[in-house]
Amino acid sequence: MFAVTQFKGKRVAMFGLARSGISCARALTLGGAEVFAWDDSDPAVEKARAEGLQVTNLHTVDFRTLSALVLSPGVPLTHPEPHWTVVKARAAGIEVIGDTEVFARAMQGTGARMVAITGTNGKSTTTALIGHVLKEAGLDVDVGGNIGQAVFNLRQPARDRIYVLELSSFQIDLMPGLSPDVGILTNLTPDHLDRHGDMQHYADVKARMFAKQRDGQTALVGVDDEWCAEIAGRIHGGPDVRRVSVVRSLDNGISAHDGILRDMRDGGVSATLDLRDMPALRGRHNWQNACMAYGAARAMDVDARLIAEAMRSFPGLAHRMQEIGRAGAVAFVNDSKATNADAAEKALATYADIFWIAGGIAKSGGIEPLAPYFPRIRKAYLIGVAAVDFAATLAGKVEFEICETLPRAVQAAHRDAAASAAADPVVLLSPACASFDQYKNFEVRGDAFAEIVSRLPGIRMTQERTV
Ligand code: ADP
Repeated sequence: MFAVTQFKGKRVAMFGLARSGISCARALTLGGAEVFAWDDSDPAVEKARAEGLQVTNLHTVDFRTLSALVLSPGVPLTHPEPHWTVVKARAAGIEVIGDTEVFARAMQGTGARMVAITGTNGKSTTTALIGHVLKEAGLDVDVGGNIGQAVFNLRQPARDRIYVLELSSFQIDLMPGLSPDVGILTNLTPDHLDRHGDMQHYADVKARMFAKQRDGQTALVGVDDEWCAEIAGRIHGGPDVRRVSVVRSLDNGISAHDGILRDMRDGGVSATLDLRDMPALRGRHNWQNACMAYGAARAMDVDARLIAEAMRSFPGLAHRMQEIGRAGAVAFVNDSKATNADAAEKALATYADIFWIAGGIAKSGGIEPLAPYFPRIRKAYLIGVAAVDFAATLAGKVEFEICETLPRAVQAAHRDAAASAAADPVVLLSPACASFDQYKNFEVRGDAFAEIVSRLPGIRMTQERTV
């Protein structure tokens, strides 16, 4: 915790008292601002009060006496409709910003640098991978934002310190001054449109990652979807724009359509890097994340060979296609984060001989979109509420067993995988479902999977379990 003095002697409203709000309020108060903190939820207000924060009902505050409203990114700024504090702030003509904007302003003039990552998918993996690579390169790095620690729980900005920050659209929407040294947009597909309005608005918000970037800064943009390609085309002047593709090679950009990363400038190769043997970066989607991380590390002057070495030792993120153990030839992969068919598709596309554990609470459409991958599934082990529907989709195409619970599914899948003649059998938990019928969230489900796997005979766990 440190003091932020940009609002010294000024009055600031803070709405949304989750962890990030509380730590930002503290930093502002320490820096001499008068902070009026509030939340619509009584328990959140009580918790903030218990932590020593002064709370004030913002309904009673005249916003014209304030300098800014600091809004939690979880609170609607625009859709489905602006929150009442936003309406009051707009009427009073004061700015509405997020804790990440306050932090970015606190970085100014300190000599600290920012790598910011956004996109529909791959944000956390890319963020963690960049943090890992830069740390391995001996740089002074803090990782946070929308992943792990809120920005005001990181260390104070200092010369040569690099902040690797995952940013959601909501955070970007609250950062009018965003101008990262390296800005990254991985990809864009429709997601959470209830909170963004339409796709155009969602894309426009994401595009602000680059809108204020200057000469000497870097923009890394995935160009494999039309929304991002269009955004890349709109960046003129300012930053060094580096396009990234994992479906075709680029004369000018970073590509890895065949698993070999090629860094090209004006048709000349400046570096190549084999991603195919990186244990935690399997799958085309991870090659996209790796290209982004490579581009970011190069922009921070890390040597390409060192980047390759660091990527090889990246442990991966828990619950995302994470190989957690092996028993003989059988690998056990925890992809509990795959709560919908789209996410499960990535895992099914990665492995060849899959003993697939799926089920829980299905999203609309179920697993029908996964039909192209059914030939890779040796057998499915179905759990939870969705088991019956999934069985109906698989019937006649893929052998299945209704196991109901995860422990039974793991036992059965292990038995069949061990007995199979497949060269590379994988017991894959990639449920294509939310977990709420049987587990509190995907993390608890993934931890339960790891726990069950760790007790199998002959198992060698490959990663520290996250509990
Ligand atoms: P986010 O933080 O954006 O939710 P994660 O890195 O946590 O993304 O990955 C979540 C899931 O999204 C992964 O399990 C994988 O299925 C999928 N994924 C990861 N990276 C990408 C990518 N670059 N493109 C498409 N899907 C991806």
